[in-house]
Amino acid sequence: MKKAILFTTILFSICIGANQTLIAQTTKATTTLSKEEQKVMDYIDANMPRAIALLKESVDINSGTLNIEGVKKVGAIFAREFEKANFKTKWVPMPDSLRRAGHLVASIGFNADQNVASKTKTKKGKKLFLIGHLDTVFEPDMPANPFTMLNDSTATGQGVTDMKGGDVVMIIALQALQAQGLLKDANIIAYLTGDEEHAGYPREVSRGDFIESAKQTEIALAFEGANGLNSVATARRGASGWLLNVKAKTGHSSGVFTPYAGYGAIYEAARIVNEFRVQLSTEKYLTFNPGLFIGGSEMNYDETKATGTAIGKTNIISPAVTVTGDLRFLTEEQKINARKKMQAIVDNSLAGTKATIEFQDGIPSMAPTEGNNKVLEVISGVTQSMGVGPTIAGDPGSRGAGDISYIAAYVDCIDGLGSSGRGAHAPGETINLKELPYLIKRAALTIYRLSR
Ligand SMILES: [Zn+2]
Repeated sequence: MKKAILFTTILFSICIGANQTLIAQTTKATTTLSKEEQKVMDYIDANMPRAIALLKESVDINSGTLNIEGVKKVGAIFAREFEKANFKTKWVPMPDSLRRAGHLVASIGFNADQNVASKTKTKKGKKLFLIGHLDTVFEPDMPANPFTMLNDSTATGQGVTDMKGGDVVMIIALQALQAQGLLKDANIIAYLTGDEEHAGYPREVSRGDFIESAKQTEIALAFEGANGLNSVATARRGASGWLLNVKAKTGHSSGVFTPYAGYGAIYEAARIVNEFRVQLSTEKYLTFNPGLFIGGSEMNYDETKATGTAIGKTNIISPAVTVTGDLRFLTEEQKINARKKMQAIVDNSLAGTKATIEFQDGIPSMAPTEGNNKVLEVISGVTQSMGVGPTIAGDPGSRGAGDISYIAAYVDCIDGLGSSGRGAHAPGETINLKELPYLIKRAALTIYRLSR
């Protein structure tokens, strides 16, 4: 349960962080696409009304993470669409104890039962793992927000861009490739989780099959929010938690600072938290935030509710403090080093006090790697061919953790290939429909060039 609380806060920030910038002008630009690729572009233009209809159909079904029936219904809609692109689909159920719907898995070229790449397929192309999610942060008891056009280029709806829009980008891109016969040699697994916004515990169960499936592939492309056409994420920070407990001698306040009475738990906890800030706050991509700080002459901390009570008198030296916080990092090494420094600060106790700190792993980071940059080069080639200029790596500090982070240790990874919009996780979330065709085209050409 301890983890459950810490990560409620952490998970809430998943998927947030994409700013929206308008893409480069495409109208005047010259393109350098092959004949097949131009046909894919034409298919996407011709099928945009169908893409919007699919988006509306999926948005108008509530699929809050805990709405198991709703998540399954959205899964069934997308399964139908994957099958149109000749993908085999299956549903990966979760045990009842997790209270989650399960995941939709669609594959082509792989032996559907064993996720083993077909031996008859070409070896040249990369095996791809495409990531989406079926759930949203909006549960059925929250105000409804059916799909609505706000003007000719903006629509609103629950999960319209986080990430039903991203799912639609993935699916229409695959349908466009299939329609031109361009998936014949492809080995692709598309994995749409049903609980990205609030993954079930234990994570070994809710993400076990996801991780094993990804290991059968070489490159993962995730369709979380796009930040324009010329930027993708080659790295995402990971999230973890910590719990600091300080015990101290108590007594009359008049003795505080003396060797026999010591400093008390509140001074010691304040020293520790402030020293964290002094020693570690300027390190790039590292952040840590104390979220709860409770102390007094009597205190009670309820981990399951992330709440507590305290009674304190000004003339009593505090005997106990509890502090909880998060820790976000770009690489595993950065996380480990930060924990070592924090531990050393904790161990350097003031007189009459004793502190302990517990670290809890949450979501790993997606570290920037050479492999990720190679995939970025392919995407940059795609956008240049489309006439919209090169693609660069976005700022990893602007994104929280996401599903792709669970597999970043095993495959090359790119995120931010989905739709663009504003206000993910907030009521009134919107999608930018003007950028949508370009983003579908970028996705289609990226999948095509990587998989052939
Ligand atoms: Zn998302």
